[in-house]
Amino acid sequence: MTLSIRFDNSYARLPERFYSRQLPQPVRAPRLIALNSALAEALGLDPAALASEDGIRMLAGNRMPDGADPLAQVYAGHQFGGFVPRLGDGRAILLGEILAPDGSRHDIQLKGAGRTPYSRMGDGRAWLGPVLREYLVSEAMHALGIPTTRALAAVETGETVIRETVRPGAVLTRVAASHIRVGTFQYFAARQDTDALEALARHVMARHYPETETVLDMLRAVLAAQARLVAQWMGVGFIHGVMNTDNTSVAGETIDYGPCAFMDGYRPEQVYSSIDAYGRYAYARQADIVAWNLAQLASALLPLIDPDRDRAIEAATAAMHGFPDLFKAAWLDVFRPKIGLAGAEPEDAELIHGLLDLMAAERADFTNSFRDLAEGRPGAGLGDRAGFEAWAGRWQARLARENTPQAEAEARMRAANPAYIPRNHRIEAAISAATGGDLGPFQRLQRVLERPFDSRTGADDLRAPPAAGEEVLQTFCGT
Ligand code: AMP
Ligand code: MG
Ligand code: MG
Repeated sequence: MTLSIRFDNSYARLPERFYSRQLPQPVRAPRLIALNSALAEALGLDPAALASEDGIRMLAGNRMPDGADPLAQVYAGHQFGGFVPRLGDGRAILLGEILAPDGSRHDIQLKGAGRTPYSRMGDGRAWLGPVLREYLVSEAMHALGIPTTRALAAVETGETVIRETVRPGAVLTRVAASHIRVGTFQYFAARQDTDALEALARHVMARHYPETETVLDMLRAVLAAQARLVAQWMGVGFIHGVMNTDNTSVAGETIDYGPCAFMDGYRPEQVYSSIDAYGRYAYARQADIVAWNLAQLASALLPLIDPDRDRAIEAATAAMHGFPDLFKAAWLDVFRPKIGLAGAEPEDAELIHGLLDLMAAERADFTNSFRDLAEGRPGAGLGDRAGFEAWAGRWQARLARENTPQAEAEARMRAANPAYIPRNHRIEAAISAATGGDLGPFQRLQRVLERPFDSRTGADDLRAPPAAGEEVLQTFCGT
Protein backbone atom coordinates (compact mmCIF):
# COMPACT_ATOMS: atom_id res chain seq x y z
CA MET A 1 0.00 0.00 0.00
CA THR A 2 1.56 3.31 -0.96
CA LEU A 3 0.77 6.62 0.56
CA SER A 4 0.81 9.21 -2.10
CA ILE A 5 0.22 12.67 -0.74
CA ARG A 6 0.25 15.88 -2.71
CA PHE A 7 2.20 18.26 -0.53
CA ASP A 8 2.71 21.91 -1.34
CA ASN A 9 4.44 23.46 1.64
CA SER A 10 3.90 27.19 1.28
CA TYR A 11 4.66 27.96 4.93
CA ALA A 12 8.04 26.23 4.65
CA ARG A 13 8.85 28.60 1.79
CA LEU A 14 8.54 31.60 4.11
CA PRO A 15 11.78 32.95 5.63
CA GLU A 16 13.58 30.65 8.03
CA ARG A 17 12.83 32.79 11.06
CA PHE A 18 9.18 31.69 10.80
CA TYR A 19 9.87 28.18 12.11
CA SER A 20 12.39 25.54 13.09
CA ARG A 21 12.78 22.48 10.94
CA GLN A 22 12.07 19.57 13.23
CA LEU A 23 11.45 15.87 12.72
CA PRO A 24 8.90 14.15 14.91
CA GLN A 25 10.47 11.89 17.48
CA PRO A 26 9.60 8.26 16.68
CA VAL A 27 7.50 6.29 19.14
CA ARG A 28 7.85 2.70 20.26
CA ALA A 29 4.70 0.86 19.21
CA PRO A 30 2.14 2.92 17.33
CA ARG A 31 -1.40 1.58 17.22
CA LEU A 32 -4.24 3.20 15.33
CA ILE A 33 -7.23 3.95 17.51
CA ALA A 34 -9.31 6.25 15.32
CA LEU A 35 -9.25 7.14 11.66
CA ASN A 36 -11.53 9.67 10.01
CA SER A 37 -12.17 8.00 6.66
CA ALA A 38 -14.61 10.62 5.42
CA LEU A 39 -12.11 13.40 6.05
CA ALA A 40 -9.30 11.34 4.52
CA GLU A 41 -11.32 10.91 1.36
CA ALA A 42 -12.23 14.59 1.21
CA LEU A 43 -8.50 15.33 1.40
CA GLY A 44 -7.76 12.89 -1.40
CA LEU A 45 -6.03 10.42 0.94
CA ASP A 46 -6.67 6.69 0.80
CA PRO A 47 -8.08 5.56 4.18
CA ALA A 48 -6.81 2.01 3.62
CA ALA A 49 -3.30 3.33 3.02
CA LEU A 50 -3.49 5.44 6.19
CA ALA A 51 -4.61 2.38 8.17
CA SER A 52 -1.75 0.28 6.75
CA GLU A 53 1.43 -0.28 8.72
CA ASP A 54 3.23 2.46 6.81
CA GLY A 55 0.26 4.79 7.20
CA ILE A 56 0.17 4.29 10.95
CA ARG A 57 3.91 4.90 11.14
CA MET A 58 3.34 8.21 9.40
CA LEU A 59 0.47 9.14 11.72
CA ALA A 60 2.77 8.41 14.67
CA GLY A 61 5.66 10.45 13.29
CA ASN A 62 7.86 7.38 12.74
CA ARG A 63 8.07 7.75 8.98
CA MET A 64 7.96 10.87 6.87
CA PRO A 65 5.97 10.66 3.65
CA ASP A 66 7.54 11.93 0.45
CA GLY A 67 7.12 15.65 0.09
CA ALA A 68 6.70 16.38 3.81
CA ASP A 69 8.81 19.23 5.20
CA PRO A 70 8.33 18.89 8.95
CA LEU A 71 8.66 22.01 11.05
CA ALA A 72 7.56 23.67 14.28
CA GLN A 73 6.05 27.14 13.86
CA VAL A 74 7.12 30.00 16.06
CA TYR A 75 4.60 32.41 17.55
CA ALA A 76 4.05 34.66 20.56
CA GLY A 77 0.87 35.31 22.48
CA HIS A 78 -1.02 36.89 25.31
CA GLN A 79 -1.80 34.16 27.81
CA PHE A 80 -4.55 35.37 30.17
CA GLY A 81 -3.62 38.90 29.22
CA GLY A 82 0.13 38.61 29.83
CA PHE A 83 2.39 38.83 26.78
CA VAL A 84 4.81 35.96 26.15
CA PRO A 85 7.20 36.98 23.35
CA ARG A 86 7.99 33.44 22.28
CA LEU A 87 5.74 30.40 22.49
CA GLY A 88 5.65 28.28 19.33
CA ASP A 89 4.71 24.68 18.62
CA GLY A 90 6.04 22.91 21.69
CA ARG A 91 4.63 19.54 20.85
CA ALA A 92 3.11 19.87 17.43
CA ILE A 93 4.89 19.36 14.15
CA LEU A 94 3.57 20.54 10.82
CA LEU A 95 4.26 17.82 8.25
CA GLY A 96 3.22 20.08 5.41
CA GLU A 97 0.24 21.32 3.47
CA ILE A 98 -1.79 19.15 1.19
CA LEU A 99 -3.98 20.16 -1.69
CA ALA A 100 -7.31 18.38 -1.65
CA PRO A 101 -9.01 17.30 -4.88
CA ASP A 102 -11.29 20.34 -4.59
CA GLY A 103 -8.22 22.59 -4.61
CA SER A 104 -8.43 23.55 -0.93
CA ARG A 105 -5.23 23.69 1.12
CA HIS A 106 -4.83 22.04 4.52
CA ASP A 107 -2.13 21.84 7.17
CA ILE A 108 -1.37 18.32 8.33
CA GLN A 109 -0.01 18.51 11.83
CA LEU A 110 0.99 15.87 14.34
CA LYS A 111 0.16 16.91 17.88
CA GLY A 112 2.17 15.15 20.58
CA ALA A 113 5.03 14.35 18.18
CA GLY A 114 7.91 15.14 20.51
CA ARG A 115 10.02 18.04 21.69
CA THR A 116 10.82 21.07 19.57
CA PRO A 117 12.92 24.20 20.19
CA TYR A 118 9.74 25.74 21.65
CA SER A 119 8.95 23.02 24.19
CA ARG A 120 10.34 24.96 27.15
CA MET A 121 9.70 22.68 30.17
CA GLY A 122 7.22 20.44 28.32
CA ASP A 123 7.83 16.89 27.15
CA GLY A 124 6.44 17.47 23.65
CA ARG A 125 3.92 14.70 24.15
CA ALA A 126 0.18 14.28 24.61
CA TRP A 127 -1.78 11.64 26.41
CA LEU A 128 -4.75 9.69 25.16
CA GLY A 129 -7.38 11.68 27.10
CA PRO A 130 -6.89 15.10 25.48
CA VAL A 131 -6.29 13.44 22.11
CA LEU A 132 -9.66 11.68 22.20
CA ARG A 133 -11.27 14.80 23.58
CA GLU A 134 -10.00 16.94 20.71
CA TYR A 135 -10.98 14.22 18.24
CA LEU A 136 -14.54 14.07 19.54
CA VAL A 137 -15.11 17.76 20.12
CA SER A 138 -13.47 19.11 16.96
CA GLU A 139 -15.38 16.63 14.80
CA ALA A 140 -18.60 17.46 16.64
CA MET A 141 -17.97 21.16 15.98
CA HIS A 142 -17.55 20.40 12.30
CA ALA A 143 -20.79 18.41 12.24
CA LEU A 144 -22.49 21.34 13.99
CA GLY A 145 -21.41 23.52 11.07
CA ILE A 146 -18.83 25.51 13.02
CA PRO A 147 -15.44 26.28 11.45
CA THR A 148 -12.79 24.23 13.20
CA THR A 149 -9.57 22.31 12.89
CA ARG A 150 -10.37 18.66 12.18
CA ALA A 151 -9.15 15.33 13.48
CA LEU A 152 -7.83 12.91 10.88
CA ALA A 153 -6.50 10.20 13.17
CA ALA A 154 -5.47 9.25 16.66
CA VAL A 155 -2.75 6.75 17.45
CA GLU A 156 -1.53 5.38 20.72
CA THR A 157 2.24 5.49 20.93
CA GLY A 158 2.91 2.42 23.05
CA GLU A 159 4.76 4.76 25.41
CA THR A 160 3.66 6.40 28.61
CA VAL A 161 3.69 10.05 29.56
CA ILE A 162 3.79 11.44 33.05
CA ARG A 163 1.00 13.81 33.96
CA GLU A 164 -0.71 13.83 37.35
CA THR A 165 -0.19 10.10 36.97
CA VAL A 166 1.25 7.73 34.35
CA ARG A 167 -0.82 7.89 31.18
CA PRO A 168 -0.85 6.22 27.77
CA GLY A 169 0.77 8.47 25.15
CA ALA A 170 -1.01 9.39 21.93
CA VAL A 171 -0.64 11.50 18.80
CA LEU A 172 -3.44 13.37 17.07
CA THR A 173 -3.28 14.18 13.38
CA ARG A 174 -4.85 17.61 13.10
CA VAL A 175 -6.02 19.20 9.87
CA ALA A 176 -6.45 22.96 9.63
CA ALA A 177 -6.91 25.68 7.05
CA SER A 178 -3.69 26.88 8.66
CA HIS A 179 -2.22 27.15 12.12
CA ILE A 180 -1.46 30.86 11.78
CA ARG A 181 -2.59 32.74 14.85
CA VAL A 182 -2.90 36.29 16.09
CA GLY A 183 0.20 35.36 18.07
CA THR A 184 2.14 34.64 14.87
CA PHE A 185 1.77 38.30 13.89
CA GLN A 186 2.55 39.39 17.44
CA TYR A 187 5.83 37.46 17.37
CA PHE A 188 7.19 39.56 14.52
CA ALA A 189 5.57 42.80 15.67
CA ALA A 190 7.28 42.49 19.06
CA ARG A 191 10.60 42.24 17.19
CA GLN A 192 9.74 45.16 14.93
CA ASP A 193 10.45 42.81 12.05
CA THR A 194 8.34 44.59 9.46
CA ASP A 195 9.66 42.52 6.56
CA ALA A 196 8.48 39.35 8.25
CA LEU A 197 5.12 40.94 9.12
CA GLU A 198 4.70 41.91 5.50
CA ALA A 199 5.56 38.41 4.26
CA LEU A 200 3.17 36.87 6.79
CA ALA A 201 0.34 39.23 5.85
CA ARG A 202 0.82 38.49 2.14
CA HIS A 203 0.81 34.78 2.92
CA VAL A 204 -2.40 35.01 4.96
CA MET A 205 -4.14 37.17 2.36
CA ALA A 206 -3.27 34.81 -0.48
CA ARG A 207 -4.17 31.76 1.54
CA HIS A 208 -7.29 32.74 3.46
CA TYR A 209 -8.60 36.02 2.11
CA PRO A 210 -7.74 36.11 -1.60
CA GLU A 211 -10.48 38.70 -2.17
CA THR A 212 -8.66 41.27 -0.03
CA GLU A 213 -6.22 43.77 -1.44
CA THR A 214 -4.96 45.66 1.57
CA VAL A 215 -3.84 44.64 5.03
CA LEU A 216 -6.69 46.71 6.45
CA ASP A 217 -9.12 44.65 4.35
CA MET A 218 -7.52 41.51 5.70
CA LEU A 219 -7.94 42.77 9.27
CA ARG A 220 -11.62 43.44 8.57
CA ALA A 221 -12.01 39.97 7.08
CA VAL A 222 -10.50 38.37 10.18
CA LEU A 223 -12.80 40.47 12.38
CA ALA A 224 -15.83 39.26 10.42
CA ALA A 225 -14.71 35.62 10.50
CA GLN A 226 -14.07 35.72 14.25
CA ALA A 227 -17.36 37.51 14.95
CA ARG A 228 -19.19 34.72 13.12
CA LEU A 229 -17.15 32.03 14.83
CA VAL A 230 -17.75 33.26 18.37
CA ALA A 231 -21.46 33.80 17.65
CA GLN A 232 -21.62 30.19 16.48
CA TRP A 233 -19.90 29.01 19.66
CA MET A 234 -22.48 30.90 21.69
CA GLY A 235 -25.26 29.25 19.72
CA VAL A 236 -24.25 25.80 20.92
CA GLY A 237 -23.24 26.77 24.46
CA PHE A 238 -19.55 26.31 23.73
CA ILE A 239 -16.95 27.76 26.05
CA HIS A 240 -13.49 27.74 24.48
CA GLY A 241 -11.81 28.14 27.84
CA VAL A 242 -8.39 29.39 26.77
CA MET A 243 -8.86 32.23 24.31
CA ASN A 244 -5.27 33.38 24.41
CA THR A 245 -4.10 35.26 21.33
CA ASP A 246 -2.00 32.25 20.34
CA ASN A 247 -5.23 30.25 20.26
CA THR A 248 -7.04 32.69 17.95
CA SER A 249 -6.74 31.54 14.36
CA VAL A 250 -6.51 34.17 11.65
CA ALA A 251 -8.41 31.78 9.36
CA GLY A 252 -11.38 31.97 11.74
CA GLU A 253 -11.36 28.33 12.81
CA THR A 254 -11.83 27.03 16.32
CA ILE A 255 -8.39 25.95 17.46
CA ASP A 256 -6.95 24.44 20.64
CA TYR A 257 -9.37 22.14 22.40
CA GLY A 258 -7.72 22.31 25.80
CA PRO A 259 -10.12 23.05 28.63
CA CYS A 260 -13.10 23.72 26.37
CA ALA A 261 -16.59 22.60 27.34
CA PHE A 262 -20.17 22.64 26.21
CA MET A 263 -22.40 24.06 28.90
CA ASP A 264 -25.06 21.86 30.40
CA GLY A 265 -27.12 24.28 32.51
CA TYR A 266 -27.18 27.79 31.06
CA ARG A 267 -25.31 30.36 33.08
CA PRO A 268 -23.77 33.32 31.23
CA GLU A 269 -20.85 33.54 33.65
CA GLN A 270 -20.08 29.81 33.33
CA VAL A 271 -16.41 28.77 33.39
CA TYR A 272 -15.06 25.22 33.41
CA SER A 273 -11.34 25.70 32.96
CA SER A 274 -9.41 24.99 36.15
CA ILE A 275 -6.90 27.72 35.33
CA ASP A 276 -9.42 30.47 34.54
CA ALA A 277 -9.71 31.67 38.12
CA TYR A 278 -11.18 35.09 37.27
CA GLY A 279 -13.62 34.04 34.57
CA ARG A 280 -11.72 35.91 31.86
CA TYR A 281 -12.92 33.36 29.31
CA ALA A 282 -16.46 32.80 30.66
CA TYR A 283 -19.24 31.96 28.19
CA ALA A 284 -20.70 35.45 27.95
CA ARG A 285 -17.32 37.20 27.81
CA GLN A 286 -16.15 35.49 24.65
CA ALA A 287 -17.16 38.26 22.25
CA ASP A 288 -15.36 40.91 24.31
CA ILE A 289 -12.32 38.72 24.66
CA VAL A 290 -12.05 37.94 20.99
CA ALA A 291 -12.35 41.68 20.29
CA TRP A 292 -9.47 42.24 22.70
CA ASN A 293 -7.43 39.56 20.91
CA LEU A 294 -8.21 41.12 17.56
CA ALA A 295 -7.14 44.51 18.86
CA GLN A 296 -3.75 42.87 19.48
CA LEU A 297 -3.78 41.76 15.85
CA ALA A 298 -4.69 45.28 14.72
CA SER A 299 -1.87 46.75 16.71
CA ALA A 300 0.62 44.20 15.33
CA LEU A 301 -0.46 45.16 11.80
CA LEU A 302 -0.08 48.93 12.26
CA PRO A 303 3.20 49.27 10.34
CA LEU A 304 1.57 47.55 7.37
CA ILE A 305 -1.65 49.55 7.44
CA ASP A 306 -0.08 52.92 6.85
CA PRO A 307 3.50 54.18 7.05
CA ASP A 308 2.10 57.18 8.92
CA ARG A 309 1.58 55.85 12.43
CA ASP A 310 -1.28 58.21 13.30
CA ARG A 311 -3.16 57.36 10.15
CA ALA A 312 -2.58 53.65 10.75
CA ILE A 313 -3.95 53.92 14.29
CA GLU A 314 -6.98 55.82 13.07
CA ALA A 315 -7.78 53.23 10.41
CA ALA A 316 -7.22 50.26 12.71
CA THR A 317 -9.32 51.86 15.44
CA ALA A 318 -12.17 52.45 13.02
CA ALA A 319 -12.02 48.80 11.96
CA MET A 320 -12.09 47.68 15.60
CA HIS A 321 -15.06 49.93 16.31
CA GLY A 322 -16.92 47.93 13.68
CA PHE A 323 -16.57 44.73 15.67
CA PRO A 324 -19.53 45.06 18.08
CA ASP A 325 -21.94 45.49 15.18
CA LEU A 326 -20.39 42.59 13.30
CA PHE A 327 -20.83 40.45 16.37
CA LYS A 328 -24.40 41.56 17.06
CA ALA A 329 -25.40 40.76 13.50
CA ALA A 330 -23.67 37.38 13.62
CA TRP A 331 -25.29 36.58 16.97
CA LEU A 332 -28.73 37.33 15.58
CA ASP A 333 -28.01 35.23 12.48
CA VAL A 334 -27.24 32.34 14.80
CA PHE A 335 -30.04 32.77 17.34
CA ARG A 336 -32.95 33.78 15.10
CA PRO A 337 -33.30 30.32 13.53
CA LYS A 338 -32.90 28.79 16.98
CA ILE A 339 -36.35 30.16 17.79
CA GLY A 340 -37.64 29.43 14.30
CA LEU A 341 -37.29 32.86 12.72
CA ALA A 342 -36.29 33.42 9.12
CA GLY A 343 -36.81 37.16 8.88
CA ALA A 344 -35.67 40.05 11.04
CA GLU A 345 -37.51 42.46 13.32
CA PRO A 346 -35.93 45.08 15.56
CA GLU A 347 -37.14 43.44 18.79
CA ASP A 348 -35.69 40.00 17.99
CA ALA A 349 -32.63 40.30 20.22
CA GLU A 350 -34.85 41.22 23.14
CA LEU A 351 -37.17 38.30 22.42
CA ILE A 352 -34.26 35.84 22.33
CA HIS A 353 -32.82 37.29 25.53
CA GLY A 354 -36.24 36.84 27.12
CA LEU A 355 -35.90 33.10 26.69
CA LEU A 356 -32.25 33.07 27.72
CA ASP A 357 -33.12 34.97 30.92
CA LEU A 358 -35.75 32.38 31.82
CA MET A 359 -33.23 29.63 31.19
CA ALA A 360 -30.51 31.36 33.21
CA ALA A 361 -32.83 31.88 36.18
CA GLU A 362 -33.17 28.11 36.55
CA ARG A 363 -29.92 27.08 34.96
CA ALA A 364 -32.00 25.12 32.47
CA ASP A 365 -30.13 22.84 30.09
CA PHE A 366 -28.95 25.00 27.18
CA THR A 367 -29.11 22.38 24.45
CA ASN A 368 -32.36 20.73 25.48
CA SER A 369 -34.18 24.01 26.12
CA PHE A 370 -33.66 24.99 22.48
CA ARG A 371 -34.24 21.50 21.11
CA ASP A 372 -37.54 21.34 23.02
CA LEU A 373 -38.76 24.30 20.95
CA ALA A 374 -38.08 22.26 17.81
CA GLU A 375 -39.66 19.03 18.98
CA GLY A 376 -43.09 20.31 19.94
CA ARG A 377 -42.56 20.58 23.70
CA PRO A 378 -41.50 24.19 24.16
CA GLY A 379 -40.59 25.09 27.69
CA ALA A 380 -40.76 21.46 28.87
CA GLY A 381 -37.64 21.84 30.98
CA LEU A 382 -38.61 25.16 32.56
CA GLY A 383 -40.24 25.33 35.99
CA ASP A 384 -41.43 28.93 35.70
CA ARG A 385 -44.65 28.16 33.84
CA ALA A 386 -46.09 31.65 34.02
CA GLY A 387 -42.84 33.19 32.87
CA PHE A 388 -42.57 30.79 29.99
CA GLU A 389 -46.21 31.20 28.91
CA ALA A 390 -45.76 34.95 28.80
CA TRP A 391 -42.67 34.59 26.68
CA ALA A 392 -44.30 31.96 24.45
CA GLY A 393 -47.18 34.34 23.75
CA ARG A 394 -44.78 36.94 22.36
CA TRP A 395 -42.88 34.26 20.50
CA GLN A 396 -46.00 32.83 18.84
CA ALA A 397 -47.12 36.30 17.84
CA ARG A 398 -43.70 36.95 16.32
CA LEU A 399 -43.78 33.64 14.43
CA ALA A 400 -47.29 34.39 13.20
CA ARG A 401 -46.05 37.64 11.65
CA GLU A 402 -43.66 35.60 9.51
CA ASN A 403 -46.53 33.63 7.98
CA THR A 404 -44.52 30.42 7.96
CA PRO A 405 -46.30 27.16 8.75
CA GLN A 406 -45.46 25.68 12.16
CA ALA A 407 -43.85 22.65 10.50
CA GLU A 408 -41.46 24.88 8.61
CA ALA A 409 -40.48 26.81 11.73
CA GLU A 410 -39.89 23.51 13.54
CA ALA A 411 -37.73 22.22 10.71
CA ARG A 412 -35.69 25.43 10.87
CA MET A 413 -35.27 24.98 14.62
CA ARG A 414 -34.32 21.31 14.26
CA ALA A 415 -31.56 22.35 11.85
CA ALA A 416 -30.32 25.05 14.26
CA ASN A 417 -30.75 23.32 17.63
CA PRO A 418 -28.74 20.12 17.98
CA ALA A 419 -30.15 17.15 19.84
CA TYR A 420 -26.65 16.00 20.74
CA ILE A 421 -23.57 17.83 21.87
CA PRO A 422 -20.39 16.32 23.29
CA ARG A 423 -21.39 16.60 26.92
CA ASN A 424 -18.52 16.84 29.36
CA HIS A 425 -19.51 13.85 31.46
CA ARG A 426 -19.87 11.70 28.32
CA ILE A 427 -16.44 12.72 27.11
CA GLU A 428 -14.94 11.92 30.49
CA ALA A 429 -16.65 8.52 30.53
CA ALA A 430 -15.44 7.77 26.99
CA ILE A 431 -11.88 8.73 27.94
CA SER A 432 -11.86 6.66 31.05
CA ALA A 433 -13.21 3.62 29.20
CA ALA A 434 -10.61 4.09 26.44
CA THR A 435 -7.84 4.39 29.00
CA GLY A 436 -8.97 1.01 30.29
CA GLY A 437 -8.85 -0.42 26.77
CA ASP A 438 -12.53 -0.09 25.79
CA LEU A 439 -13.06 2.19 22.80
CA GLY A 440 -16.80 1.41 22.63
CA PRO A 441 -18.15 4.53 24.36
CA PHE A 442 -15.78 6.78 22.36
CA GLN A 443 -16.92 5.23 19.09
CA ARG A 444 -20.59 5.40 19.99
CA LEU A 445 -20.35 9.06 20.98
CA GLN A 446 -18.45 9.82 17.81
CA ARG A 447 -21.08 8.13 15.63
CA VAL A 448 -23.98 10.00 17.21
CA LEU A 449 -22.13 13.32 17.02
CA GLU A 450 -21.56 12.89 13.30
CA ARG A 451 -25.20 13.91 12.83
CA PRO A 452 -26.01 16.04 15.86
CA PHE A 453 -29.26 17.44 14.47
CA ASP A 454 -30.90 14.04 13.83
CA SER A 455 -32.74 12.59 16.78
CA ARG A 456 -32.38 8.86 16.87
CA THR A 457 -33.70 6.02 18.94
CA GLY A 458 -31.52 4.32 21.49
CA ALA A 459 -29.43 7.40 22.23
CA ASP A 460 -31.59 9.28 24.75
CA ASP A 461 -28.91 8.78 27.38
CA LEU A 462 -26.61 10.96 25.25
CA ARG A 463 -29.16 13.79 25.30
CA ALA A 464 -29.61 13.79 29.02
CA PRO A 465 -27.83 16.37 31.14
CA PRO A 466 -25.53 14.93 33.79
CA ALA A 467 -27.31 13.37 36.75
CA ALA A 468 -26.41 14.51 40.25
CA GLY A 469 -22.84 13.47 40.85
CA GLU A 470 -22.09 13.09 37.13
CA GLU A 471 -21.56 16.75 36.44
CA VAL A 472 -18.08 17.79 35.34
CA LEU A 473 -17.22 20.88 37.35
CA GLN A 474 -13.78 21.59 35.95
CA THR A 475 -11.84 20.93 32.79
CA PHE A 476 -8.09 20.97 32.48
CA CYS A 477 -5.61 22.00 29.84
CA GLY A 478 -4.81 18.32 30.06
CA THR A 479 -1.77 18.55 27.81
P1 AMP B 1 -1.78 25.96 24.95
O1 AMP B 1 -2.12 26.36 26.33
O2 AMP B 1 -2.26 24.59 24.59
O3 AMP B 1 -2.21 26.96 23.94
O4 AMP B 1 -0.21 25.84 24.85
C1 AMP B 1 0.63 26.92 25.17
C2 AMP B 1 2.06 26.60 24.81
O5 AMP B 1 2.55 25.51 25.57
C3 AMP B 1 2.28 26.23 23.35
O6 AMP B 1 3.50 26.81 22.96
C4 AMP B 1 2.39 24.72 23.40
O7 AMP B 1 3.11 24.22 22.32
C5 AMP B 1 3.10 24.51 24.72
N1 AMP B 1 2.86 23.17 25.28
C6 AMP B 1 1.71 22.70 25.81
N2 AMP B 1 1.86 21.43 26.22
C7 AMP B 1 3.13 21.07 25.95
C8 AMP B 1 3.92 19.88 26.14
N3 AMP B 1 3.41 18.77 26.71
N4 AMP B 1 5.19 19.89 25.73
C9 AMP B 1 5.73 21.00 25.16
N5 AMP B 1 5.07 22.13 24.96
C10 AMP B 1 3.78 22.18 25.35
MG1 MG C 1 -2.45 26.53 21.95
MG1 MG D 1 -3.57 23.46 24.00
